[in-house]
Amino acid sequence: MNEKLVNDLHELDRKYFFHPSTHMRAHADGETPSRIIRGGEGVHIWDTDGQKTLDAFAGLYCVNVGYGRQEIADAIHKQASELAYYHTYVGHGNEPVIRLSQRIVEKAPKGMKRVYYGMSGSDANETNIKLVWYYNNILGRPEKKKIISRWRGYHGSGIMTGSLTGLELFHNAFDLPRAPILHTSTPHYYWNAKEGETELDFSKRLAAELEEMILAEGPETVAAFIGEPVLGTGGIVPPPEGYWAEIQAVLKKYDILLIADEVVTAFGRTGSYFGSQHYDMEPDLITIAKGVSSGYLPLSGVIVGERVWQVLEQGSDQLGPIGHGWTYSAHPVCAAAANANLDIVDGEDLTGNARETGAYLQQRLHETFDDHPIVGEVRGVGLMAALEFVADKEKKERFDPALKVGPQISAACLEQGMIARAMPHGDILGFAPPLIITKDEVDQVVTKAKAAVDKVAATL
Ligand code: PMP
Repeated sequence: MNEKLVNDLHELDRKYFFHPSTHMRAHADGETPSRIIRGGEGVHIWDTDGQKTLDAFAGLYCVNVGYGRQEIADAIHKQASELAYYHTYVGHGNEPVIRLSQRIVEKAPKGMKRVYYGMSGSDANETNIKLVWYYNNILGRPEKKKIISRWRGYHGSGIMTGSLTGLELFHNAFDLPRAPILHTSTPHYYWNAKEGETELDFSKRLAAELEEMILAEGPETVAAFIGEPVLGTGGIVPPPEGYWAEIQAVLKKYDILLIADEVVTAFGRTGSYFGSQHYDMEPDLITIAKGVSSGYLPLSGVIVGERVWQVLEQGSDQLGPIGHGWTYSAHPVCAAAANANLDIVDGEDLTGNARETGAYLQQRLHETFDDHPIVGEVRGVGLMAALEFVADKEKKERFDPALKVGPQISAACLEQGMIARAMPHGDILGFAPPLIITKDEVDQVVTKAKAAVDKVAATL
């Protein structure tokens, strides 16, 4: 692209385009850099200025099969030529979505029965909330409606899903969170464990806190618990030992549904096909998005388990067809993209790669950063990992947030030609590369991260 065209694009971008999650005034005034992405191949993307970058965050941890997969582009073209759209209301289907549903249910944790589709992780969690409420209404217990989420959980940015999200940034000035959503403690051992507490003791304490909350609210009012198998946007925090077993025991005791939000973890990222399988979770509902189509087209879903499905069937007998649907539910072109994507995920055993190359990534990060003076914690599972930066390792003291250490290090990574994401809670640098990443590319990621961390550390 010639320089004038590129400059025009930047100007038009600042003038007309309302970017999500962006400082609006600073962007409009040109105080913050704008970047216009032009193309991608494998683990790399490039922009209109010709800068090529290793994307160690797979977009927003979604481009699991990497950029530029012709097979998916061809499948989209073929399906759009044959049938670009027809709705799926009142019993209408299309072949790609039927095949996709079968393959998802067959690979899902046991007891999963049906898949409902949407366009984003947020709308899928919106569906979850409605299904949970409907379920309890049909069961004749209309007071059982509260949903418990966790501080630092991320479940979307709609009105109810933004309420589920436990990050203040997503609540501020939006009058969120709304009732009946409650938040319980974050399972982050590094920060939240008491002196001398083992991981298992910490997990037991969080489960006891959850039980206290349920008893204080009244178990007859608590409908569901939602959690990501591995806390994602809240800082990429794998659960402490025994966490899910302890939490699930409490939920079972009070007849509370479990929603596993697997928008990030489904389809291989942890090294297991589903994060629920990785952590022996037995969810009633599973949220999927991102990795189902690797972001080639927007697609999300709710996988519905036996217990809920039976009640939904009863509900139809009482009330008629369910009053819930989007125009684009089960869009045939998105489903065709998803099938082509999952052909790659399965054909190239990307789950296996997440396990093996993921273990290599974790090992290299530990070797490189465990003793680094500003790195308090190195953590992760499969192909998701994070570094947490602290001012004082011994005393576990955070940096002054005004220093913006996390964003500075993320910016320094970009100077090194790599995207690693500053997460929105504390000074955290997150990695979640495409699942096709090789060990050589992992070496590049770690080398670039080291250079970036050293550069910023030297200024502190
Ligand atoms: N749940 C989780 C676990 C997520 O990570 C995200 C997105 N980062 C969402 C839900 C919301 O998905 P979307 O942005 O597609 O609405």
